[in-house]
Amino acid sequence: MWDFETDPEFQQKLDWADQFMTNEVEPLQYVIKHPLDLTDPVRQELILPLQEEVRGQGLWACHLGPELGGPGYGQLKLALLNEILGRSGPGPTVGPIVFGTAAPDTGNAEILAHYGTGEQKDRYLRPLIEGTMFSAFSMTEPQGGSDPKVFTTTAVEDGDSWVINGEKWFSSNARWAEVLLVLAVTEPEAHISKRMSMFVVPVHTPGVEFIRHVQVAGWVEGDGGGDHSYIRYNNVRIPKDALLGARGQGFGVAQTRLGGGRVHHAMRSVGHMKLALDMMCERALSRSTQGEQLAQKQLVQQMIAEAWMEIEQFRLLVLQTAWKIDRFNDYNKVRMDISAVKVVASKVLSDVATKALQIHGSLGLSEEMPFVSMLVNGLHVGLADGPSEIHTLGVAKQLLTQYKPTDGIFPTQHIPALTEQARTKYASTLVKHGR
Ligand SMILES: Cc1cc2nc3c(=O)[nH]c(=O)nc-3n(C[C@H](O)[C@H](O)[C@H](O)COP(=O)(O)OP(=O)(O)OC[C@H]3O[C@@H](n4cnc5c(N)ncnc54)[C@H](O)[C@@H]3O)c2cc1C
Repeated sequence: MWDFETDPEFQQKLDWADQFMTNEVEPLQYVIKHPLDLTDPVRQELILPLQEEVRGQGLWACHLGPELGGPGYGQLKLALLNEILGRSGPGPTVGPIVFGTAAPDTGNAEILAHYGTGEQKDRYLRPLIEGTMFSAFSMTEPQGGSDPKVFTTTAVEDGDSWVINGEKWFSSNARWAEVLLVLAVTEPEAHISKRMSMFVVPVHTPGVEFIRHVQVAGWVEGDGGGDHSYIRYNNVRIPKDALLGARGQGFGVAQTRLGGGRVHHAMRSVGHMKLALDMMCERALSRSTQGEQLAQKQLVQQMIAEAWMEIEQFRLLVLQTAWKIDRFNDYNKVRMDISAVKVVASKVLSDVATKALQIHGSLGLSEEMPFVSMLVNGLHVGLADGPSEIHTLGVAKQLLTQYKPTDGIFPTQHIPALTEQARTKYASTLVKHGR
């Protein structure tokens, strides 16, 4: 059965979320310093009551199933909600924080739930889900992020402890986090899939040194530096049970979280794109040059039409991918789709933001409008959780496994061969009619 409609009960929730975002959440980005700063009294006074309202509506932590305190709506409904939450930004987005679905905590909670010990769950998973603690994922290293084979941060056993040494780069939100999930080499001689292990490291452990907090250009990331920390792990000693998942299986653990993270970014991107399109159309109708509205100019019309067509195609791909995740309940079976939405998200968001900026002229390029940050967001989606090139290769590789080479030198669809086969199949009719 094919159906493109949202059930009326959930549509009511989406309508509520839409109004709530417009009236209560989106204004916050202009008055609070940073949505992750739990020490800011203004943030606490304004955000905490909103989180309670979201809970009251049954929309808190919609990415989670009931066993973890979420409503278990599934990924398709999450996609529809995330479109609305994705409107807020730039940089650290308020919407997902008010609704308990902010990255990287969502993915980190996912692996803690999946692989964590009882104690790890009590200490970290519960507060992460409740939104009273933040976490960071520390995988990428300064010398390379696309290729895990170049990671050199090590964890070595020493008595009752593991000792971590190395440097990590672009660990998002680490400066607000209480816990870092760190990928380190524990079996240097093993195959890449068995070479690393994942560790749960409290941020205040001696030896966790922040070299600097790197800021994404064009994003607003609050006072005191950016949100993407360059960290040195200098003889960081943690207990044996700080391992998350089995020893040597860190790569697999990381992949578990990255699948969901990639598709959630794509869902939120739809919201950003729609906002850019709305602004583009409003401006085209409001601004005139050379005696006519911008909306009358055919090249402007082309930009608007193309933006809408790109967004609609992308949105359908996102929704279908979400549907497949619900259906198969296994990210591995949807890997190709997730790679595809990630690549397309970056392209479409960058393209739509550029068009919207262009239609706004100099105003569009200024800090008084959000287009540069939207554009940067598009570029960010093309890098974080693996660059577009790698995901494009992944799509091609997986697609090719569904095919096999021909036996002969000509393709299956070679017309002379097909004609010969058809003539054989219908020989009696052709002979009867003298052809
Ligand atoms: C906003 C933001 C947030 C991030 N947050 C986190 C985080 O929380 N935790 C974390 O661990 N990391 C994080 N990252 C890092 C991110 O995962 C890496 O930037 C990414 O994996 C690419 O690694 P790199 O930057 O070292 O680029 P490199 O690995 O040096 O690659 C550079 C470029 O080379 C090209 N390239 C690479 N491989 C191939 C290939 N096989 N074929 C063709 N071309 C290729 C691509 O154009 C690529 O962009 C974040 C990044 C951004 C931008």
